[in-house]
Amino acid sequence: MRYAETGYNLEIDLATGNIEKVETDPKLMELHLGGLGTDVKLMWDRVPPETKAFDPENLLIFSSGLLCGTPAFSANRTLVTTISPQTDLLAYPMMGGFWSAELKYAGYDKVIIRNKSPKLVYIWIHNDRVEIRDASHLKGKGALETQDLIRAELKEPRAQVAAIGLAGENRVFTASVEQSRSSASRLGSGAVMGDKGVKAIAVRGTKDIYLARGAEFMRHVNDLKEFVKHRNANPLQGVMTVLHSGVGSPQAMKHADESWHTTGFAWGNARARRKDFWTGEIEKSWTKTQTSAIKRFISCFNCPQQCGALIAYQDVPRYMMKCFSKLTYTLAAYVDDLGFSFRICQRAFEYGLDSFSTPQILAFAVELYEAGILTDADFAGCPSDKEGRFFWLLDKVARREGIGDILADGTYWAARRIGKGAEAFEHNTIKKHEQMNIKLGMLDPLYYLMFSTNEKVSITQIEGNWPQAAYPSREKREEWVKDWPQLPDEKFKQYFLDWEPRGESSNPYYPTPEISSEIVDWMEMVHNIDDALGLCAGMGSFCYKPAYHIHNYPKFISSATGMDIDEAGLKKIVNRSRNLHRAFNNRRGMSRADEKPPEDHWRHRFPELEEKLLSTYYKFKGWNYDGIPTKERLLELDLGYVAEDLKKRGILKDGQDCEEEQNYQS
Ligand code: SF4
Repeated sequence: MRYAETGYNLEIDLATGNIEKVETDPKLMELHLGGLGTDVKLMWDRVPPETKAFDPENLLIFSSGLLCGTPAFSANRTLVTTISPQTDLLAYPMMGGFWSAELKYAGYDKVIIRNKSPKLVYIWIHNDRVEIRDASHLKGKGALETQDLIRAELKEPRAQVAAIGLAGENRVFTASVEQSRSSASRLGSGAVMGDKGVKAIAVRGTKDIYLARGAEFMRHVNDLKEFVKHRNANPLQGVMTVLHSGVGSPQAMKHADESWHTTGFAWGNARARRKDFWTGEIEKSWTKTQTSAIKRFISCFNCPQQCGALIAYQDVPRYMMKCFSKLTYTLAAYVDDLGFSFRICQRAFEYGLDSFSTPQILAFAVELYEAGILTDADFAGCPSDKEGRFFWLLDKVARREGIGDILADGTYWAARRIGKGAEAFEHNTIKKHEQMNIKLGMLDPLYYLMFSTNEKVSITQIEGNWPQAAYPSREKREEWVKDWPQLPDEKFKQYFLDWEPRGESSNPYYPTPEISSEIVDWMEMVHNIDDALGLCAGMGSFCYKPAYHIHNYPKFISSATGMDIDEAGLKKIVNRSRNLHRAFNNRRGMSRADEKPPEDHWRHRFPELEEKLLSTYYKFKGWNYDGIPTKERLLELDLGYVAEDLKKRGILKDGQDCEEEQNYQS
């Protein structure tokens, strides 16, 4: 009997049409849990480093997490793991919604797709019956309408359908996979799905998931319920409005007060901040627009938080809004009317496009046009008003028409194809991927490390549990640390108490490189745990004082799986997967030179300090000067086979560590 996991993967070869239900090795769960952990292991074993995103050998893995489908709140993430066409590194965008639980109930932990289909198809998984079906009639259909069409065609209203839109079919690098009220958006998983000729995967399952110690597991769920009830009744004080309800996860649809985002984040493609944007008049008009657009709040599978919303705005077809998408197009287009977002998001979601990178690409095109780098010929037929221009550009990108064909590869690659100085306008990328369009004043050591080193390359980075800025007074900090059981160690309280907004103990020199390393490592670790368990970061790693944390994760894992696991054991497992993940990307060429935030991300930069931060963090992680796990670190984590492989390829040489910077450079 397998607990928490089903113990089976579905393997589909699109070239031959072969479908296999494959029993997995139980040892893999002990070594890597599930979700991201086992995805990384599969990718390491089966995708050689020479493989490119659109090669048939690239895998496309739809993966549930270890706790998905169990009664654990918010265990609903589906990871879509593949090689990214944007970065050429491992991508694993995640979606909430309902799909992963349905997959588990159908009897599978993952769907692993290889090779390409000669024609457009969709996959229908109904418990043990699995079919590859013709999807030629769905060609060009929207990602949202496809979900309804497939459910109707199958006469299965309860099927969960993950689909791509036109952007995925056209291999746009920011193409997403859309499902219900969520999407796996970053790094072009939708483009790989389109390249493989898969329009959608529909799933319906009616089986059970077994828990090793069910009664004990439910006691932990009840504790969680009490915590959520308490936190909902007593929201955190002194945090920005978007975090001010529930467990501290972003509630972008519940609150209309967007003063923090609209005045702090940059508008356009990081062109300027508008510190005086949020006036009483704007607040009134935005609140009215938002209230009139929202028909009801909605949650993902088994989550009490309801942070999405069903939108019915003017004559726009109904759809579900995903948190921060509410703002991204408006800010990027420099449009003051929030209604624009509610209109354009519906079209963008139907196309199946990532709401973070895509608006930035459109803003980038507008800025190139205004600078004379793109010309009237590139914009022939484009309306001159800001809203019309964005709709026009969105259509061009999704269809890969005209200038849209170049823009569809993202700002990094587009800038290089356009030339004529366009590279100077591509200033939000790291590892070739568009980041959040923020430009700030003073270097922040924690964010420097998070931006530089994380493998997620997504908006959430690896931030979350640690406050984004020092609290203004000692008194407020003392108040904050009084109730902070989620911390991994009491010493973190002192780090927080000592962190001042100004003066010697402030950014960029405090937190020190050593303390920064500990904090960033902890935040990254909780993200990696969530991603292996399939838990939404909005209940754990991406919020302040969350419901899930290092002291209760092991209880859920042990009672669900029967595996005896404590905090130290859990840390070892996630560190193992994390280092395997790192080595996977190192094997594809990623190294220290790639770990640089955009030049103008902060106005005040400190090159020596930044080098020290990176070296200290690498050393803390057990990586060498170039950011590659050392042999010793790999052996400690039972990854001897990885050390061997890196050595054989000349990526890892004996005796290199962080101290030997000089040797390494010479
Ligand atoms: S917190 Fe929001 S995004 Fe996360 S599972 Fe709940 S409803 Fe979904």
